[in-house]
Amino acid sequence: METPMKYGISITKNPNPKAKPDPASLGFGDVFTDHMFILDYDEGEGWHDARIEPYAPICLDPAAAVFHYAQEMFEGLKAYRTVDGGLKLFRPDMNAKRTTRTSDRLCIPRIDEGFYVDAMRALIDVDRDWAPDYDGTSLYIRPFVIATEPFLGVRPSRQYKFIIIISPVGPYYKGGLAPTRIFVEDEYTRAALGGTGYAKIGGNYAASLKSQMKAHALGFTQVLWLDGAERKYVEEIGTSNAFFVMDGEVLTAPLGGTILPGVTRDSVLTLLDGWGVPVKEERFTIEEVFDSYDAGELSEVFASGTAAVISPVGELRWKDRSMVINDGKIGDLSQRLYDGITGIQSGRLPDTYGWTVDL
Ligand SMILES: *Cc1c(COP(=O)(O)O)cnc(C)c1O
Repeated sequence: METPMKYGISITKNPNPKAKPDPASLGFGDVFTDHMFILDYDEGEGWHDARIEPYAPICLDPAAAVFHYAQEMFEGLKAYRTVDGGLKLFRPDMNAKRTTRTSDRLCIPRIDEGFYVDAMRALIDVDRDWAPDYDGTSLYIRPFVIATEPFLGVRPSRQYKFIIIISPVGPYYKGGLAPTRIFVEDEYTRAALGGTGYAKIGGNYAASLKSQMKAHALGFTQVLWLDGAERKYVEEIGTSNAFFVMDGEVLTAPLGGTILPGVTRDSVLTLLDGWGVPVKEERFTIEEVFDSYDAGELSEVFASGTAAVISPVGELRWKDRSMVINDGKIGDLSQRLYDGITGIQSGRLPDTYGWTVDL
């Protein structure tokens, strides 16, 4: 196979491309494109051998550190088809920066942020034909780093692989924005001060599954996480950031180490600021949220994240207290934020903040 170089990345084309799925029936994360990007790290040599290869299983030693001590991190972002038939990434520099912060927390060697974005671009370019062109669909990009050194001692690995895979995905909401039912988790917690809450790592997700299962068993969509110390302060909703509209003001938890700094969260805050909507990034308790509801001042609750962009909350349950928000319908501000962000992503609205990168 010929191996042309792009950004110093060798490319081996897949001789057996797969049939593309029906774009109307795409789900999330169960179909993968024909290629993957791989970069190796060895202590003393640094990151090396950037390559795009046919998508295939990888071979690892059973003693590889990632299997034992979870030295692993990941990212998630999307490439969107635009109304004029183009393809755009949304703020990939933010994912590259977050990768650096997460890597530092897990003692994973840094990857150059510019190269990180170039690697994504090169891979998307090779699998460009996979970008579905159907309302609400996109290419979900999953970069991740795993510790691969075969060694059972506890210390940072001396070998890693940085891999990027791509999955064509369907719209998060098949029948329009559907409000969720959220259960306030007061038993398990997601993050503690000094811990890894701000890092995007598999370990945080593994620790959250128990609560998610509990919420599902009780008939809820997701959990709302409270702070790890007092189980009082509102932190996040599932794997997304949480926003509350109280008395005309938008409240969200501050980035104090336990909150994952979402790219969508930052985009929401920027848009709200531009619209002149008052916002507070301050700690607030779940009690205050329910009191605000009882006083008739809580008008909207929503979650933000790459997967759904804006996810309105229709119902919140905390112990024996329960609330139905905005009659279980999406609120005006939630809708406006959803339209604003997806409008920029799809090229329907002007990209005034310079957030998108053409592919
Ligand atoms: C990924 C993630 C988010 C959302 O981040 P985005 O960059 O907006 O997708 C929020 N909370 C947690 C815990 C996450 O892992």
